[in-house]
Amino acid sequence: MKNCIFCKIIEKTLPAKIIFENKDFLAFHDINPKARFHVLVVPKKHISSLESLKKEDREVIGQVFFVIQKIAKKLRLNKKGYKIAINVGKKAGQLVDHLHFHFLAGWKTKHQLENQKIP
Ligand code: AMP
Repeated sequence: MKNCIFCKIIEKTLPAKIIFENKDFLAFHDINPKARFHVLVVPKKHISSLESLKKEDREVIGQVFFVIQKIAKKLRLNKKGYKIAINVGKKAGQLVDHLHFHFLAGWKTKHQLENQKIP
């Protein structure tokens, strides 16, 4: 899709720190990470949001969880844990109109924040 940042990254006309690629997905580090690990898992097909998903996309999108497992293993986070998030629509914070899954890990827990010594 013309003027789509993620399509440009998929086409490799825009640089990104790619950590995984297969026929249907590309995963790369978020340019503005919200956690120590912040990877975006993006289907190569331009689907503008979760709300635009069609039944015909079911097979490809169903693979995403296995792609996520591979990324977690690669980052050695499969045992430590991680969070997956999808923003759907502008009001939910979706800035890029190309479906993507946020893979997040390595932030401080509430317990760590509460017990942190203030210098
Ligand atoms: P969302 O707000 O759910 O649409 O998420 C879009 C994400 O894309 C944000 O976390 C941005 O920091 C990230 N982002 C935008 N442009 C780039 C880029 N060129 N390379 C990597 N991440 C990007």
